[in-house]
Amino acid sequence: MDYPVIAKPKLEEIKVRPNLDQYDDLVKKFSWQELRKELDGLPGGGLNLAHEAIDRHARGPRADRVAMYWEGTGSEEERYTFAQMKELTDKFANVLKGLGVEKGDRVFLFMGRIPELYVAFFSILKVGAIAGPLFSAFGPDPVKDRLLDSVAKVLIVTPDLRNRISDILKDLPDLKHVIVVNKDNRSQEPLAQGDISYEKEMAAASPDFQIVPTTEEDFSIMHYTSGTTGKPKGAVHAHLAALQHMATGRWALDLHDDDIYWCTADPGWVTGTSYGMSAPWTNGVSQVIYEGGFRASAWYQIIQKYGVTVWYTAPTAIRMLMKAGDHVPKRYDLSSLRYMCSVGEPLNPEAIVWGLRALDLAFHDNWWQTETGAILIANYPIQEIRPGSMGRPIPGIKAAIIDEAGSEVKPGEEGDLAIRPGWPSMFRTYWHNQEMYDSKFKNGWYVTGDRAHMDEDGYFWFVGRSDDVINTAGHLVGPFEVESALIEHPAVAEAGVIGKPDPVAFEVVKAFVSLHDGYEPTDKLRNDIMGFVRRKLAAGVAPREIEFIDSLPKTRSGKIMRRLLKARELGLPEGDTSTLEED
Ligand code: ATP
Ligand code: MG
Repeated sequence: MDYPVIAKPKLEEIKVRPNLDQYDDLVKKFSWQELRKELDGLPGGGLNLAHEAIDRHARGPRADRVAMYWEGTGSEEERYTFAQMKELTDKFANVLKGLGVEKGDRVFLFMGRIPELYVAFFSILKVGAIAGPLFSAFGPDPVKDRLLDSVAKVLIVTPDLRNRISDILKDLPDLKHVIVVNKDNRSQEPLAQGDISYEKEMAAASPDFQIVPTTEEDFSIMHYTSGTTGKPKGAVHAHLAALQHMATGRWALDLHDDDIYWCTADPGWVTGTSYGMSAPWTNGVSQVIYEGGFRASAWYQIIQKYGVTVWYTAPTAIRMLMKAGDHVPKRYDLSSLRYMCSVGEPLNPEAIVWGLRALDLAFHDNWWQTETGAILIANYPIQEIRPGSMGRPIPGIKAAIIDEAGSEVKPGEEGDLAIRPGWPSMFRTYWHNQEMYDSKFKNGWYVTGDRAHMDEDGYFWFVGRSDDVINTAGHLVGPFEVESALIEHPAVAEAGVIGKPDPVAFEVVKAFVSLHDGYEPTDKLRNDIMGFVRRKLAAGVAPREIEFIDSLPKTRSGKIMRRLLKARELGLPEGDTSTLEED
């Protein structure tokens, strides 16, 4: 399928001078060691993300810059400067230390996007412990699974979420403390026996704290993966990841000193920590945190109100904005926006076309995983966009397409997307599952589990997850291509494509489709969509079957769960559904 290339902008058309206008040169001469000098480091030679993201700004000219503009669900507003963030995190670090939290302990966070989440996160790092963020919409079982698996020592939680999981606490013998954050006295209930009040402890805590010395290889964060393809795995990261967050914040998100940045991802997922905490703040950039969930008008309102300049979001959110209609953004002044990025799933070319039409800007796709810790492949502001492509590797990264044997294939050939190990934000292990970690490496490559191809110019094109690729009559078909063609049809809001076993063709392509409001799921429409897609794709690739469904099963981070579509289609067990979004 050919989509017109979006031409490379001229330097003078870009509102600021892009950080990565010398891509080709930098790729040739880049060294992480050199860039490492831009991090401060701890006295004595260690490295700690909390120092790089907060303390060093609090001690310098950015001390009074707003680090976080916070907007609550009830339109409350709060602002925190870097200096204030330092004081609060020093205090809470003292609280944690007082409770006996030590280097390497796992401290989990289970709360919505309130400022205290950000304070607690960096305080955990300051005491040298490992932070484990949990998505606030989890029910008791996923929380229990993760706290058991990680052998967590402390849980920091809000009262409503504490109530949700009160039954599981007795099953967690290693959990020593539950700290309850009751922001603005939102809850009137008394604390449960044994729980610790965040507010009370903070009122008594000293603001003097010295960061526990950590090395760049000490563990900082553990994140459970999204569970799109199977049971979530606990990917563990080291403090050195800060280096790559800083670098990719500049190169891929084009962050500049005076930007107002908004990342819509929740810190329960890796994007919400790497890019909703670390990347902006290691660069000393102000960011907006919005507690509320998705609503098109509320989101545009946030951009207008705070003058957001750089925006990082996900395809599923973009598809929802598209669904809300082109007229909605027209009601807001979005002129502050200058750069937009997307991650988490393939970005359908139609979404780029829509962005240009409705927002006057192109979304820049980039690729990475929980395991990679930071962006590895991206579209940059000063390069042309080839819609449907994830872009090119960041400087310092060697990405390739490899075959079964682990050898690089020729440009244009499909294979496994693989990365040469050793980048700073690479995961260091899967928690207590070294065997699974080791299984991800082959012939000197980290094998990502994604299928892709690379073109002659080094742009990478996502085909699908290895598990999702369809084998029909000898052709390998990636669901992304078929889904992208489907959502170009005006009636189609979302599409998920699977391979359905077939006695003749081995598998046939089956599509599940949800419709935009105002369209009826009739046979006539089905035929129309079928004809539309056949004209776009080779006959063997177009879906043989289309089934209408109200909504597609997705992870709570918004990814289409094709494995569930398939399990349901075949009447098989659904497997781990801890991250499944509820309707
Ligand atoms: P699990 O590993 O538990 O199945 P997951 O892979 O969805 O879940 P994440 O680490 O959150 O967990 O997601 C990373 C994956 O998301 C990538 O491997 C890729 O399949 C997909 N992805 C992320 N960004 C992009 C992108 N720009 N284009 C295509 N796919 C992407
Ligand atoms: Mg994965």
